Amino acid sequence: MSKDNTTNQKKKVSFPHMGTVSYAWSAALRIIGCEPYVEPYTSKKTLSLGTKHSPEAICIPYKLILGNFIEAIEGGADYVAMITSPGCCRLGEYGKCISNALRDLGYEANYVEMQLYDGIKGMYNFLKTVSGKNNLFLFSRAIIIGITKAFMLDSLENLLSYYRAREIHFGDAEKHYKKALKYIDENDTLLGLKKAKKQIKEEMQKVEIDAKRDVLHVDITGEIYVVNDEFSNQNIERELGRMGVQVRRSLTLTSFLKDAIIPKIFRKGETHLQRAFRLAKPYLMRDIGGDSLECVSDVVYAQKKGADGIIHLSPFTCMPEIMSQNIFPAMREDCDIPILALIMDEQTGRAGYITRIEAFVDLMRRRKRKIQLSENNSESTDKCKV
Ligand code: SF4
Repeated sequence: MSKDNTTNQKKKVSFPHMGTVSYAWSAALRIIGCEPYVEPYTSKKTLSLGTKHSPEAICIPYKLILGNFIEAIEGGADYVAMITSPGCCRLGEYGKCISNALRDLGYEANYVEMQLYDGIKGMYNFLKTVSGKNNLFLFSRAIIIGITKAFMLDSLENLLSYYRAREIHFGDAEKHYKKALKYIDENDTLLGLKKAKKQIKEEMQKVEIDAKRDVLHVDITGEIYVVNDEFSNQNIERELGRMGVQVRRSLTLTSFLKDAIIPKIFRKGETHLQRAFRLAKPYLMRDIGGDSLECVSDVVYAQKKGADGIIHLSPFTCMPEIMSQNIFPAMREDCDIPILALIMDEQTGRAGYITRIEAFVDLMRRRKRKIQLSENNSESTDKCKV
């Protein structure tokens, strides 16, 4: 299924979607002289293409990624790039399965992998493969800009969550967020991004808010793909925002970059994975694959930080997340925090999904009022074994 790329035309390279990650990799590809091909954002069509050509019981990220690749190749991408890692979950097998599926379907594109745990070296080798160049200065610039954008995207999403929970006119925060995204997309230099930071802040400050609204704070954890991809989680953050809930995610693109890509000397403080090993210890002693260790620790963290609740999102049949869901009941004795576990797949109906979220928000609100009214609220303070 390889495509001949001997012409002088720029190579079109595509990655699967996961939230706003395309803004970061597009910049890196532009800098090295490739053309980023951003396929249409994941949709029902993507899901149906992926599901049609996937094993039935495979997790939803696989189906959506395959769907993204099919749409990218049909749209003209020369390369489809996949992030892979060895390990205990199925992600280690994804690459082979996806490339076989594309070949069996007769698609012509170069399938290329970026090994996660090779860190910067893995990224460098990937850039070398897709560009056909070997330029340390150029690749370093591409990696720095890509990573800087990833951090800006995460900060912008935090701002969106803050404003969305307090906005007076529904949809206002998202409207300004979309404008702010353009500032990130349009600038591929550090100086430009520095200016963009200021413009983003100003843009988001235009959202009319009720600063005194009694907002609930919820942490979202789970498998990293469904946590960060708004199609697969049915835009849960928008729904929560509509209900006056501000969301915090510890499993983000940048938490992953800090743990897997950014060298130790450039990192400040404890990473999410380091925190996970520390906080999950009484309940889970080792990494059992996927993001289960992080999820268990995120429950402890949410409770320690005084969140009103935590939502756990997992793809149907995801083994690591089945394990974490089975650990949560054992944590209840130590962590007095409401947990809502939601399982996502192509069959997840919207109406039932929203009803469960609404019921959970209602529960958290009543619990919060009870705590506020109670004279003896010390019972709900930190009881975790940390
Ligand atoms: S963590 Fe779960 S959903 Fe993600 S790739 Fe592994 S098995 Fe699939």
